Amino acid sequence: MPGEMRGGCEAGGGERCGIVLGEKMEGEKQPAPSEGLFADGHLVLWTLCSVLLPVFITFWCSLQRSRRQLHRRDIFRKSKHGWRDTDLFSQPTYCCVCAQHILQGAFCDCCGLCVDEGCLKNADRRFQCKEIMLKNEGRALDAMPHHWIRGNVPLCSYCVVCKQQCGTQPKLCDYRCIWCQKTVHDECMKNSLRNEECDFGEFKNLIIPPSYLTSINQMRKDKKTDYALLASKLGKQWAPLIILANSRSGTNMGEGLLGEFRILLNPVQVFDVTKTPPIKALQLCTLLPCYSARVLVCGGDGTVGWVLDAIDEMKIKGQEEYIPQVAVLPLGTGNDLSNTLGWGTGYAGEIPVAQVLRNVMEADGIKLDRWKVQVTNKGYYHLRKPKEFTMNNYFSVGPDALMALNFHAHREKAPSLFSSRILNKAVYLFYGTKDCLVQECKDLNKKVELELDGERVELPNLEGIIVLNIGYWGGGCRLWEGMGDETYPLARHDDGLLEVVGVYGSFHCAQIQVKLANPFRIGQAHTVRLILKCSMMPMQVDGEPWAQGPCTVTITHKTHALMLYFSGEQTDDDISSASDQEDAHLLFLSVGLQAFCSIRTTWELGSSADAYTRPPQLDDSVSGDGT
Ligand SMILES: [Zn+2]
Ligand SMILES: [Zn+2]
Ligand SMILES: [Zn+2]
Ligand SMILES: [Zn+2]
Repeated sequence: MPGEMRGGCEAGGGERCGIVLGEKMEGEKQPAPSEGLFADGHLVLWTLCSVLLPVFITFWCSLQRSRRQLHRRDIFRKSKHGWRDTDLFSQPTYCCVCAQHILQGAFCDCCGLCVDEGCLKNADRRFQCKEIMLKNEGRALDAMPHHWIRGNVPLCSYCVVCKQQCGTQPKLCDYRCIWCQKTVHDECMKNSLRNEECDFGEFKNLIIPPSYLTSINQMRKDKKTDYALLASKLGKQWAPLIILANSRSGTNMGEGLLGEFRILLNPVQVFDVTKTPPIKALQLCTLLPCYSARVLVCGGDGTVGWVLDAIDEMKIKGQEEYIPQVAVLPLGTGNDLSNTLGWGTGYAGEIPVAQVLRNVMEADGIKLDRWKVQVTNKGYYHLRKPKEFTMNNYFSVGPDALMALNFHAHREKAPSLFSSRILNKAVYLFYGTKDCLVQECKDLNKKVELELDGERVELPNLEGIIVLNIGYWGGGCRLWEGMGDETYPLARHDDGLLEVVGVYGSFHCAQIQVKLANPFRIGQAHTVRLILKCSMMPMQVDGEPWAQGPCTVTITHKTHALMLYFSGEQTDDDISSASDQEDAHLLFLSVGLQAFCSIRTTWELGSSADAYTRPPQLDDSVSGDGT
């Protein structure tokens, strides 16, 4: 039967299969060498693939990205716009070319155009940026139409025609003039407005109009220098402002500020001092009418000093009548000079940049004493030239200079550690308290002689002497006044007088900083001479510390700087009260640290010499309190 036959056959096949299978299984138990290698090879191949493929994809993507970046940078370099990349726009943004909603792309930090990557080239060709000078030289000085750009108007702006809010619709809409910052609805934009002359808006007294520079250029060609005539057309109130910003100050906040000022003013009057040194940038003042220019320095006290030095150089060059008045926008922390002048200790964006400009317009001109600090090393009178510094803030010898010196040294080693404000202060105080144990400045009164206006002063048992020009010291502490519970002669920064105080130690310094103790007031003088008889001592001028051997330090009046004093509301009231709290916390922290260190020292001393030594710094705090 075929069925049986099939069955038998199947059975037979099964048997055969069984044999074959059995053989195969035997074969698997002991694989032929070539077959095993093949399987291993497979595994290796797959592993390689799974590892290499992502690597390759990542590599390819980054290659593409860097190629795109190169292309973009090429456009950036050739462009008249000030393009900047951004990974995320801070407000809802629409591309000025394709009108799509975009999250990332580029913006111009002069005119404010926003664009996505794909439309960049197109936008660059199509739209004109802020022209710092007019090309058409024949045009009259006061005739310049608005320069409108469409879309992305600032939040909370109002239409000049209907007075309703602008830019509220979720699309590319409404216009802003890049000079006067006026905004107008699409539907309110009329031909008359398109041809209207631009009056440069709220900050017209601070802006250098492009036409002014064009006319100056023409006058220079004709060898005329009567700039005042030109300026008279711009009104009596016109006092152009030059921005000198340090883009590295205040954890790179300067960079963003530069852009914001370029938007509000003529980009030609905004300088990054890390790229154009102040002495070069200030030459713009010589193109402005005499005694009219103002400068806003954005940076720390160090940057202000740098600019004031450049201004002194202008005096030497005989450009006295072009010297500007100086206002400060403090970046970073602990800016005592700017604090003294009413500009606060540090700006972190609490008020909009436009408000900063309004404050500058309101500020009053005052004088600031600048001092010459001459350090003559002992024994080198005729061999070496004495070191010379210019001092705006303060000179000191002793614990606070040591703190600055230690701080400086450690910041150089690990700059990334010092980017936070609170950490900075903690580290600063730690070095202060650490110094209590080292006592490097002990018995200062036996090591130095102090002369005020030529008269020798007897000193009590001090560790440090601080000579002040300005009201604030140590990041916002009024040193001369102390706690204000004793009467004291008035201190000014333009009276040609220095205030001299003493401190009993670094812990005393910390106590003064949080208003728990008064400094020892030594007196006021026109000239201060300090003779260091022996040993190395830490010294500092305006926060620049160094270690100094035996020497004579002479401080004499050098010159006056013209500054702007802001008497209005302080911009950082909340912050200063917050920083007071911060200070108080840090004092406790430092006291704790000190206690810990002293216990450790006692223990170490105790284990080595078997004698109990009282922690020395506690003595200091008691004597500091007592006086
Ligand atoms: Zn686009
Ligand atoms: Zn632009
Ligand atoms: Zn305008
Ligand atoms: Zn309108």
